[in-house]
Amino acid sequence: MDNLESIQNNVLNIMEEAQKNYLWSSGNKRLNTWHVSDFVSECLRKTQYSKTHPTKFDPSKASVFWLGHVIHNALPLAKLNEVTMCYNIQTELGMTAQEVAQRPLDELANVITGTLDDLIPLGNGEWCIADKKTYKKFFRNAKNADSDPSYRLQLDIYRVLLKATLGIDAKYGCLLYLDKSDNMSPTPVAFDLAPIEETNAKMRFILKELQSGDATANPCWLCNGANKKKAIYCDYKDICLQEKPEAHPPQEEELKVTISKE
Ligand code: SF4
Repeated sequence: MDNLESIQNNVLNIMEEAQKNYLWSSGNKRLNTWHVSDFVSECLRKTQYSKTHPTKFDPSKASVFWLGHVIHNALPLAKLNEVTMCYNIQTELGMTAQEVAQRPLDELANVITGTLDDLIPLGNGEWCIADKKTYKKFFRNAKNADSDPSYRLQLDIYRVLLKATLGIDAKYGCLLYLDKSDNMSPTPVAFDLAPIEETNAKMRFILKELQSGDATANPCWLCNGANKKKAIYCDYKDICLQEKPEAHPPQEEELKVTISKE
């Protein structure tokens, strides 16, 4: 029995090693700029902490990233897929990844990088930016055009970057939700993307917040357990409670009303 157990452990170790190797070999070098994911967090203070207090990669999350990579690699939806775009928010000019890599760090303070999944031609010169999102239906609400505003903002930002880098104006976005709890059953949700100027203004505002060094704390499902798993998704809660106690008032106790009978 011991022997069988050791075989099982051996196979498991080999699999985990293969997942890690796949991840490291398929990961492009991350550019030293802001990333679109920094801008779409529901709490910008969490983004700020991720820069000032970077955490080590958690090996227990390797399989989640591995699955994401596998799906993206195996499911291209258009000829133009995995398009990396760089953009200077102040000058509103696009840059190539090569240009960014050659610039000194202090010139990259206003630059943001994003990689869109798929750019789908719709005919008549119209384009749609598509992005795949895995989720578990059990833990997430039904999908509709208003769910996940941060995902929508992500695609709005891609529209800005795409226009500045490739000169293509994609007016439409589509989130392709894949349900991990149901054989990756797909739910596409299409919507109009926000006007470029409107998103530009939003990006300038977010950049200012992040560069202030005192970004607004927004206690939300990331740190207050108000999610179906009742989990804490912010690694910086302790620091935040210390630095911004006013943002985390103690939960008001339910008022106990005693009705006296007359
Ligand atoms: S604890 Fe909450 S408010 Fe503070 S950084 Fe994290 S998510 Fe934001």
